Amino acid sequence: MSVTFDELKLTGSLPSPAGVGMNILRLTQTDDFTAEDLARTIQSDPALTGRIIKMANSAATAGVVQITSVSEAVVRLGVRTVRNVALGFSLVSSYRKGKCESFDYPGYWSSSLARAVAAQTLARDLRLIQPAEAYICGLLSGIGRLALASVHPKAYSELLDRLGRHVNGAPLAQAEREVFGIDHHEIAAAMLADWKLPEAHSQALAAYHLPRAEDSDGSRAMVALRTVLRVVSPIADIFLSKPGEHARHWDRFVRASELVEAGVGRLSEICDEVVAEWRDWGNVLAVPTQSVPPFAEIAEMEVPNEAAPGGDRESAPVADIDATVAAVDDERLLQKLVVLAVDDDPISLRLLVSQIQKNGYEAVEATNGAEALERALESNPHIVVTDWLMPEMDGIELCRALRRTEIGSDMYVLLLTGREDEENAVEAFDAGVDDFIVKPFNPKILKSRMSAGERIVRLKDKVATDKRKIEEHVAHLAVLNRKLTQTTVTDSLTDIPNRRFAMEALGQQWERRDSSQSGAVSVVMVDIDHFKRVNDEFGHDVGDSVLKQVAALFRDRLRQGDTVCRLGGEEFLIVCPGSDGEGARIVAERLRVAVEETEMEHGTFRGRITCSFGVAERTREMQSIDDLLKAADVAVYAAKNAGRNTVCRAPAPATA
Ligand code: GH3
Ligand code: MG
Ligand code: MG
Repeated sequence: MSVTFDELKLTGSLPSPAGVGMNILRLTQTDDFTAEDLARTIQSDPALTGRIIKMANSAATAGVVQITSVSEAVVRLGVRTVRNVALGFSLVSSYRKGKCESFDYPGYWSSSLARAVAAQTLARDLRLIQPAEAYICGLLSGIGRLALASVHPKAYSELLDRLGRHVNGAPLAQAEREVFGIDHHEIAAAMLADWKLPEAHSQALAAYHLPRAEDSDGSRAMVALRTVLRVVSPIADIFLSKPGEHARHWDRFVRASELVEAGVGRLSEICDEVVAEWRDWGNVLAVPTQSVPPFAEIAEMEVPNEAAPGGDRESAPVADIDATVAAVDDERLLQKLVVLAVDDDPISLRLLVSQIQKNGYEAVEATNGAEALERALESNPHIVVTDWLMPEMDGIELCRALRRTEIGSDMYVLLLTGREDEENAVEAFDAGVDDFIVKPFNPKILKSRMSAGERIVRLKDKVATDKRKIEEHVAHLAVLNRKLTQTTVTDSLTDIPNRRFAMEALGQQWERRDSSQSGAVSVVMVDIDHFKRVNDEFGHDVGDSVLKQVAALFRDRLRQGDTVCRLGGEEFLIVCPGSDGEGARIVAERLRVAVEETEMEHGTFRGRITCSFGVAERTREMQSIDDLLKAADVAVYAAKNAGRNTVCRAPAPATA
């Protein structure tokens, strides 16, 4: 499956933490990073620096000295909190909005944040695992959805429209696989692995949505993370429920509570604390949140009548969105350009703003560099017109700071200079300024300089649009390509992999075991008993339908990791990587009973069939996959001779 993830990656549109976020992620992969390391990394992003300092100051009680540096903030808030804010902020701020129309970006982040905060609190309270690890897994647990929205904005939007925007769980994943050949769980796991996060994280993300009955063993950390993710999913859904709908997820919550020792009562108390924390974090990261009734009250509420479409509902639209960040329309360029005017002198500022408006632009104002930076990140202006000399942060520093951020790197910056500064213009250009005007400015000159800026902004935007179109095209081709490949390895009658796929998959397993010199591979060959009679007595149509039903039954009942293919006719092959003969025999026996007990149906036909199973394990004597298949074939033959509806194992090779 990594092939399909690589294809997504090739489109260049997968989400990833911007600049600093990635560095923080790398830095904190080990637990022995220092507070100074973290502070230094954060300082390279002025916007992030501002947020962290603001947060530290707002957390302080009256009388405590205001802090002004990241290092102090790290001391006050703690390293892990700062890291988590930083990582969250870097991801959220880059993907607050996007091109996928029906994807609810604010709701997505709100839900991810709820999972993150709940996971962190649970981990801390129940001492399951490092709270910071749990936070990251919670925050990233749905990132595969964001990835699909980024890589296939149109197709994913259509898919969401078709299913209803708030569908989630198995129906969503199923639809994703049909359209894209991959689902968001798989993508999330691959992305985390790609970011070199610990294996336990990506394994937990790949497994938490699967039924518990299918759980495979894993490291202690993986199992704990998987449990935490299972518990926080219904919690987040409750948080995001519309008023009156909270009880809809209560059953899931109660079931999830059985996974941890706390019990429903204690877990409910924890959740009430989590709500408060979620809302605080929402404020810091400018992610919408809403109030949630105490869990003890939700327990008493009636489940709303009307059935939820598409099974599990997640992230209902968030009612009272109090995000401080203005959503900027993607098609903003068709409308007015936004210009940020910065000057510490109120009279000059007023003059500047009135000129900007007169020229048909929308004006946003700030009276110093630091404020301008904050405004710029909120309103994402196309053009910044700034005075040079200002207290705190001057125009040049502002420009440098903007250029270091993802969103500020594209803005057109026009610097207002005094006549005597003209000489120093070189410094300004070095800092990334695009153009300058001497103060006091002549309105006509200002107008023409801003028009020049506008031309460049629109040109850049056109380039970006073209790039996006190309990316979409590449993504589209990748899907077509994948579908094409799939059709050559899929059996057209039963829709499961065909012989060709079986041979390739088996060949890969064979080589892997060759190189690692360890582990087992087993196969189960299956042949339907007296299938000719089905055709003869009920017709070919019924025969075809029975083949489909048997194939679907095998596919649905198999463990994760095992694969069933149709070899041809009424014969199937199940490949069980990592299983010895006994493991595969158990699988076969389970399937034998399942087939025997299942009534096949087609039109008016009702009937039962049975199958014969031959199990073979790779032994040291075997030279190639042909030897393994032959052994399985012999075992099927033995099963037929033993009276059919039987599992036979290939005899172990005679020991020399
Ligand atoms: P046994 O228990 O010994 O396996 O008996 P059998 O009748 O299953 O074995 P045999 O190999 O004699 O017959 C297999 C039959 O499967 C012959 C063929 O008509 C039928 N068959 C093969 N492919 C298809 C198919 O795609 N559709 C249908 N309807 N029948 C098929
Ligand atoms: Mg046969
Ligand atoms: Mg047969």
